[in-house]
Amino acid sequence: MDQHNILNQLQELEKKSTVLEPSANNRMQWEEAFTKYSKRYIDELNDKPSFSLENYDDDTLSNTDFRSENAIDDVLRLLKDHLEPPGLNPASGGHLGYIPGGGLYAAAVGDYLAAVTNKYAGVFYASPGAVRIENALINWTANVLGYNRGFGGNITSGGSIANLIAITTARDAKGIKGKDLHKTVIYMTKVAHHSLKKAIVIAGLRECVIREIALDKQYKMDVVALADQVKNDKTSGLNPFLVIGNAGSTDIGSIDPLLEISQVAKENDLWFHVDGAYGGYFLLLDECREKMKGIADADSVVLDPHKGLFLPYGTGIVLIKRLEDMKQAFSYEANYMQDTVSFEQEVSPAELSPELSKHFRSLRMWMPLKLHGEQPFIDALKEKLLLTEYFKQKVVELGFELLTEPELTVVAYRYVPNNGMDANEFNKRLMDKVHQDGKIFISSTNIDGNYILRFACLSFRTHRYHVDELLKLLLACKEEVLADM
Ligand SMILES: *Cc1c(COP(=O)(O)O)cnc(C)c1O
Repeated sequence: MDQHNILNQLQELEKKSTVLEPSANNRMQWEEAFTKYSKRYIDELNDKPSFSLENYDDDTLSNTDFRSENAIDDVLRLLKDHLEPPGLNPASGGHLGYIPGGGLYAAAVGDYLAAVTNKYAGVFYASPGAVRIENALINWTANVLGYNRGFGGNITSGGSIANLIAITTARDAKGIKGKDLHKTVIYMTKVAHHSLKKAIVIAGLRECVIREIALDKQYKMDVVALADQVKNDKTSGLNPFLVIGNAGSTDIGSIDPLLEISQVAKENDLWFHVDGAYGGYFLLLDECREKMKGIADADSVVLDPHKGLFLPYGTGIVLIKRLEDMKQAFSYEANYMQDTVSFEQEVSPAELSPELSKHFRSLRMWMPLKLHGEQPFIDALKEKLLLTEYFKQKVVELGFELLTEPELTVVAYRYVPNNGMDANEFNKRLMDKVHQDGKIFISSTNIDGNYILRFACLSFRTHRYHVDELLKLLLACKEEVLADM
């Protein structure tokens, strides 16, 4: 192509592609529109359902046409009409199922600025500031946990990836090789989160022996059973490798006896991993720190800021007691990155996780902590604990039975009808009715073959109002199911 032609084409293409950089006026128009949208969304939360079964067949969004440009108001209307209505609304204070979090507005501001600046958060050389922000948050979390120095950590997309990083690090730190897998043993309980089983499979440990250690009456790991099993396994020539404890199980919020488990781990040279994706940030409260004593002895710990710190989905943290173990599992060399290695004042996230180019996700955690300070987080977590106590007392007054005393902010409960009707069938129907109403969302679990209802209170937006609404709903739905039979 002759140069004249090249220059002509470039001129034309430049003109066409600059629409991707909207003018200041254009940006202001968008900002006004999306600010209005978020204002309405937040203002309406308590008037809208937490869950809606309607319009699941609406496939407008599957058939999105990308061939032409659209005005911001039309685009936002598509979201309002087709994204908002069906399914769960996790931003609502009425979300009391699974493990909620809410989604802090301050985090949205962080996300917005992370996208606008597009800082490259994977490597110190590229953005010392972004890496320092991530490392500062890891240090802050490690401090909450009780890790002193020498640890490593990474801000991940969630607890599942954080668990995967921990399991992978454990595998390499303990030198587990393919030829030994059938002799290698992992210990956990049946209330361990399924993301751990996934992580074990993804990390290539599918052929390991997995021991489900018995639970006591409060659904905590029976440490005597653990010690016995490890001893037996050693006697039969197996290699005990990893024990996984819960700092707040998803099902019932139970906390394993972490200190005792850490002792068994130490005596037998096991890697001790603690899954605190749900419960970890309760360590901010003095009254909960006692319950998780021993967590600082773990070799690795996972926490989910999108649960216990109320961030929007997409934020987990893994901490590894010895940074070197993490580096061993994840560091890399790449020819095209040769210029980055002379900048090693700070460890870079890319050396400690599978990600290279990573979302500057630490800004969504940093912004709320900076704007609000830690104290409101502590107060909100205390409020959730007290709401849980309140719900527990009230639901028992309504005739429901508890599976066990709640330790954190999950209550596992059910109604056992005294008219001979099957309890599982009853509670299933009760939950369907609550879902049909939709004002408050709850979820269920299956424990030992029993259909169990769960109250999971962790959104910063959940207040007494929502708990009272749920209690009203449970009473009304219970009467309806009883009358239907
Ligand atoms: C939520 C949860 C996970 C999984 O975390 P994601 O952030 O959903 O990937 C793991 N363990 C526990 C205990 C959890 O509550």
